[in-house]
Amino acid sequence: MSHSAVEVEPGASRLSAQFTLGSLRVAALSDGAPDRALGGFFHGVEAAQWTQALGITDPEAPLPFNFGTFLVRDGQRTILIDSGFGGLARTMGIPGGGELLARIEELGVRREEIDAVVHTHLHPDHCGTNVTDEGELTFPNAQIVLAQAELDYWMSGQGAEAESQDRAAAAHRNILPYQAADRVRTFDGEHEVSPGLTAVPTPGHTPGHTSFMLASGGQHLLITGDAAHHPVHFEHHDWIPAVDFDPAESTRSRGRLSALAVERDALVTGGHFPILTLGRVRPTATGYAWEYVHRSE
Ligand SMILES: [Zn+2]
Repeated sequence: MSHSAVEVEPGASRLSAQFTLGSLRVAALSDGAPDRALGGFFHGVEAAQWTQALGITDPEAPLPFNFGTFLVRDGQRTILIDSGFGGLARTMGIPGGGELLARIEELGVRREEIDAVVHTHLHPDHCGTNVTDEGELTFPNAQIVLAQAELDYWMSGQGAEAESQDRAAAAHRNILPYQAADRVRTFDGEHEVSPGLTAVPTPGHTPGHTSFMLASGGQHLLITGDAAHHPVHFEHHDWIPAVDFDPAESTRSRGRLSALAVERDALVTGGHFPILTLGRVRPTATGYAWEYVHRSE
């Protein structure tokens, strides 16, 4: 099968890039891009194994990492997929952190123009820009869209119990003001949240974790969320992040996601992959292989 090359338009820095998928304009926007050691994303895996897969020798070597979001425009609607780390990233001193609104404005988009913020899950690095430092709605005209199971996990107290009070507090802070304004919408299972944008349940990292498939003009883009923190997770489904809520479930989710990526011949990217990483997943005799289509360097 042959593909036309993807024309990636670099942004002002490694914090953004754009490309076209059918009639959609897709921007990858960072809310912080630190270099960090990635060992925590291969929990229980021998360092020699995962470093070899990543093509490095030193497991402590800092590698480019990203707290990424995606802005999708179809000419009518403007949708943000995840909202980054927000103010927390500024206090943590993460390079480029807490600057998502600047990245959005660089595209000529005003925050009032965002119609929906769609969440893969509610960890603090994925919903952090929903409210301002003053607790106001950052996106005053947006609906917040997420899986009911994810909302329940954080709002019932289960998330705080399983993870931490701080994480639950961040989820509450970034969701409750929208609930008060009747701007939160939930879905169950596989669901088309907007024309051409389908939620694909990939539980495990959190109970309501969701990936998203974009489709336009016969082309597909799979946005993994934290079902994969690095492309090698598509080759090694059981190389789990230390932070996965249910590792067996997240392993199964990576299996289903890999099969879906192959079936749709989808471009694949993830918010924690350096901007802009695009690849395809290929079936092999024993599993799956990741093929880079575009990578930052
Ligand atoms: Zn994350």
